[in-house]
Amino acid sequence: MKSTKSLLLLVIAMLVVAFFMFDLHQYLTLDALKSRQHAIESYRSTHPALAVVFYGLIYIAVTALSLPGAAILTLAGGAVFGLLWGTVIVSFASTIGATLAFLAARFLFRDTVKSRFSSRIKAIDEGIERDGSFYLFTLRLVPLFPFFIINLVMGLTTLKVKTFYWVSQLGMLAGTIVYVNAGTQLAKIESLSGILSPALIASFVLLGIFPMIAKKIVSSIHAKKVYENWNKPAKFENNLIVIGAGSGGLVTSYIAAAVKAKVTLIEKHKMGGDCLNTGCVPSKALIRSAKWLSHLKRHKEFGIKQADSDFDFTEVMERVQLVIKTIEPHDSIERYTELGVNIIQGEAKIISPWEVEVKTSEGVKTLTTRSIVIAAGARPFVPPIPGLDKVDPLTSDNIWNLRELPKRLLILGGGPIGCELTQSFARLGSQVTQVEMLPRIMIREDPEVSDAVMKRFKQEGVDLRIEHTAKEFVIENGEKIMIAEHRGESVKIPFDQVLVAIGRVANIRGYGVEELDITLSPRKTIETNAFQETNYPNIYACGDVAGPYQFTHTAAHQAWYAAVNALFGQFKKFRTDYSVIPWSTFTDPEVARVGLNEQDAKEQNIPYQVVSYGIDDLDRAIADGEAHGFVKVLTQPGKDKILGVTIVGEHAGDLIAEFVLAMKHGLGLNKILGTIHIYPTMAEANKYVAGVWKRKHAPERLLRWVGRYHDWLRG
Ligand SMILES: Cc1cc2nc3c(=O)[nH]c(=O)nc-3n(C[C@H](O)[C@H](O)[C@H](O)COP(=O)(O)OP(=O)(O)OC[C@H]3O[C@@H](n4cnc5c(N)ncnc54)[C@H](O)[C@@H]3O)c2cc1C
Repeated sequence: MKSTKSLLLLVIAMLVVAFFMFDLHQYLTLDALKSRQHAIESYRSTHPALAVVFYGLIYIAVTALSLPGAAILTLAGGAVFGLLWGTVIVSFASTIGATLAFLAARFLFRDTVKSRFSSRIKAIDEGIERDGSFYLFTLRLVPLFPFFIINLVMGLTTLKVKTFYWVSQLGMLAGTIVYVNAGTQLAKIESLSGILSPALIASFVLLGIFPMIAKKIVSSIHAKKVYENWNKPAKFENNLIVIGAGSGGLVTSYIAAAVKAKVTLIEKHKMGGDCLNTGCVPSKALIRSAKWLSHLKRHKEFGIKQADSDFDFTEVMERVQLVIKTIEPHDSIERYTELGVNIIQGEAKIISPWEVEVKTSEGVKTLTTRSIVIAAGARPFVPPIPGLDKVDPLTSDNIWNLRELPKRLLILGGGPIGCELTQSFARLGSQVTQVEMLPRIMIREDPEVSDAVMKRFKQEGVDLRIEHTAKEFVIENGEKIMIAEHRGESVKIPFDQVLVAIGRVANIRGYGVEELDITLSPRKTIETNAFQETNYPNIYACGDVAGPYQFTHTAAHQAWYAAVNALFGQFKKFRTDYSVIPWSTFTDPEVARVGLNEQDAKEQNIPYQVVSYGIDDLDRAIADGEAHGFVKVLTQPGKDKILGVTIVGEHAGDLIAEFVLAMKHGLGLNKILGTIHIYPTMAEANKYVAGVWKRKHAPERLLRWVGRYHDWLRG
């Protein structure tokens, strides 16, 4: 591929150089055309078909190679073939030539652009997907933009070849007609600049921007159309109503209150939502107790002769509740009321784009608002597997109510939640069987990441069943059994309790989404545009209910955009920035990631280089008895620009922060290497991986000369 590209580049370069070296440009001037007009015309009358073929091929070659002279060739088309045929031939030849230039640019440079601007390319591609044909049409009609640049730049985008072809042909037609028509009057033309009068240029500009303006008008009419059956109140009690006081809703209302908007936050269950009550906080508290036990088990490694654990599972679970209670004030009604948010404990239902009905213990009331932010979260997905409902499945919602440790715990799902709870319960003493239908757990991560976690799980006694698909749940002689399919065979797995952790589904029912016909995405989340806006321009959504990520920090990130766009969108709207999204799975070893991993890069065809540093070699990790894991960094080939990082090991979720900052602000590995890291810390791993990269990219030839210089100095 690389050699084909080099060859093509060489051929193009040679042809361009030859064009200028042999001064072929002299044939593509107005004077040259005028002086040869009769000769060309007489050739055309004796060889009409050949004249068309030669002319077409020359035109295609000039435009495909982005050589100057297309305007003269177009005039020649009019002079030689007349208005109708000249227009037809030029229209096809120019579009074919432009498409060849477009294809060459794509083949030669698209990959480079993709890797160089990997963090921005998605947004650009989405913009092109949405409005690419409009942009192209405008550019084609506005004569300010040289056509050859348009061909090359469009080639670097994802615009479909077919779209490029037909939009170009259509967009260039008006200009083609003007020039071909001028060519029919060749003798009268004194210069190229005289062909397009200022009035004509202005008309082209208007014609060019018309489709864009029309699209904007159509989309604003379309946006307003959703309101046509609703009566807008004359006045509003609120600037903003927020539904759901989880991570997304809390941040939205915090921001609204901070900018002095009148905001009402409605929560039907517990302040803090999933993260505080059934998600991040309890799971991390449980992980801590479980980790403590795992350390006790390893006491001899640390030089401790005797260390037995005597614990009560109930007390561990009570500690989890205590942790929630301690953090609760951060998300409390009191705190948010003090911040200026009006909190209502009740169930919200959107009854019109500007009205929300709230059912509270005191009754039902209706509130009016200019804008609404839906932050209603998600819930565990419980699949319709036959018999599952008969075995009282646990989910991440109710597992926190357990006060008796399940003896044999079956966990369905090898994603982050399933993995964190698998290891915790195994460490607490349950016999855990983890079932995953795919060939490995944590499938979004690179295979060696899954391997590291699977290896540890097996060491800790987890019965890991990959490529097992749950088919049925039965109770035989009072024993609960899951029947799974494994490589065509039926396998029976007995258990006492089952935890279902196979994904989370957005809460989209029961609060007006269906009645208002708010558009859903194919993934059954509330569909939002880049501004977190739903199909109702005054209704926004953020967090798990909107996706695509399901993390507390992404919910909070989207919340800022939802709040600001909902309150100030009439002046300026901000697109949610997804360029650098980190996450972590808090297993032991911890797994943290930001940006691309290898499997993503391959899938998206993004060129990369990879460097890795083994944490088993790190002084602090050795001292702590945690000498395992790695830091793996993907960089742009030949550059220190970071495309993505995966860290596996102790405190990976904290260590990744340095790379998140670096990626966000465009700092490369050289900058990390040039930063002092405290000795001895785990964070030194970040510097060492940068060192590995530096050694791989050392200027070997220069160093050989430096070596010779030192030899010479020694005499
Ligand atoms: C076990 C587990 C562990 C997790 N660990 C992590 C982690 O370590 N790190 C991380 O970043 N993320 C983690 N998550 C994910 C994280 O909890 C969610 O991404 C986050 O809570 C989403 O916030 P949200 O505001 O979108 O929704 P939620 O927190 O679910 O809040 C939605 C709120 O809306 C309320 N609501 C819904 N409908 C209505 C209505 N009609 N009227 C009034 N109120 C309504 C609900 O009661 C709920 O309180 C974990 C999740 C689980 C389950």
